[in-house]
Amino acid sequence: MQQARPIEWDTPMYRLAVAQLDRAAEAIHLDENIWSRLRTPQRAYVVSFPFWRDEFDHLETVFGYRVQHLLTMGPTKGGIRYDLGVDLGEMTALSMWMSWKCALMKLPFGGAKGGLRINPRDFAPRELQRITRRFTSEIIDVIGPDRDIPAPDLGTSELVMAWMMDTYSQQKGHAVPGVVTGKPVEIGGSLGRREATGRGVITCMLEACRHLEIDRARVAIQGFGNVGAAAAAIAHELGCRVVAVSDFGGGIHCDAGLDIPSVIAHVKENDKLEGFPGADSVTNAEILELPCDVLIPAAVENQISGDNADRLRCRLLVEAANGPTDLEADAILIERGVHVVPDILANAGGVTVSYFEWIQSSQQLFWTEEEVNGRLITLMQQAYRQVHEASEARSLDMRSAALQIGIERIAAAKRTRGVFP
Ligand code: NAD
Repeated sequence: MQQARPIEWDTPMYRLAVAQLDRAAEAIHLDENIWSRLRTPQRAYVVSFPFWRDEFDHLETVFGYRVQHLLTMGPTKGGIRYDLGVDLGEMTALSMWMSWKCALMKLPFGGAKGGLRINPRDFAPRELQRITRRFTSEIIDVIGPDRDIPAPDLGTSELVMAWMMDTYSQQKGHAVPGVVTGKPVEIGGSLGRREATGRGVITCMLEACRHLEIDRARVAIQGFGNVGAAAAAIAHELGCRVVAVSDFGGGIHCDAGLDIPSVIAHVKENDKLEGFPGADSVTNAEILELPCDVLIPAAVENQISGDNADRLRCRLLVEAANGPTDLEADAILIERGVHVVPDILANAGGVTVSYFEWIQSSQQLFWTEEEVNGRLITLMQQAYRQVHEASEARSLDMRSAALQIGIERIAAAKRTRGVFP
């Protein structure tokens, strides 16, 4: 496959996504025409706009992105991230993973991703609302319920989705709940969406534990936000021992198991894990190396690399975060026999319930929480078993199997639609 000249989104994270694609494409003998189309996004928008902070006497220029990787399968779908690491390469890599993930789950979407290069922890809620509304109006022409549907991701929340939905609706002149998913229930959000990614992660974990014969798993979770805290709560409810959790400032560890409802109450009150009584402190690097059965990275990308993969002491790695493991680490983990449930499978519960929310919004109907959770668990179990069977049949690791299935489905759709004009 001829390498293209380096392009605007060429960053280490983009290169990781492309290297994964290339490896899968080579193995399935993917048509080179389709392969080269999948290496770059179909549309990538970069915006910059002025922003006035409450306490500042000067304007700041803020950078925003929305990347739509694949328009073949239906509207595009993907999160909005507020983080200082946001750039065109990161958004492109994440949009590619969204494409494979939606195809793997058989959802009628292509991948997208967007965000602002800001540290949301520096912003007061009023400022966050203003910056979200301005960003939404900057990308208003490229999003929409039939076009591209944002959702929460790192550093954003239900409330951010409510402001996006309101800004979009104000401009259109009527309420358009289907323009975003992961919004609050009172404006058309789905019951069960808040916990959906965490529930999907734990569903995959249980499937893998059954196969590895791990009972009452000891679980360590890096990241205690929307995904990590929900995964911890569900694992705790199901009788697993959550031995460590961490957030931006570091982590807490207790080998006998943390009382997760008390940890959640502590974070609600203090906004951080630090100071939780009766537990040892650990750093975000140390939490990855604690003895446990299951490690769940649920924070940011690039946490497990050639530098530390040798020191992981888990039997099972369930990737709740996107892109937490690099290629070198992948090879080491396979060699060491650590079972890896890859991100595009493990964290697919979020977009799956986003899909349920989009359906409910477009048809003005509402499912019960039991219906949502039941359908989610069924789809996650089916996807896990399909990837597991393919990995055995093709003698592959789970990541390669998941990527191959997703990419094969997209290639079939692209072949069928043909080339315009
Ligand atoms: P969040 O902002 O709600 O929580 C992130 C957590 O990670 C927080 O506890 C934060 O303190 C911690 N964190 C931030 N930077 C860190 C760092 N450098 N080191 C260690 N910890 C850090 O975000 P989220 O929605 O829970 O997303 C977490 C991961 O899951 C991301 O990779 C995201 O792309 C992925 N994901 C999220 C969803 C979703 O539905 N929200 C769906 C699929 C995948």
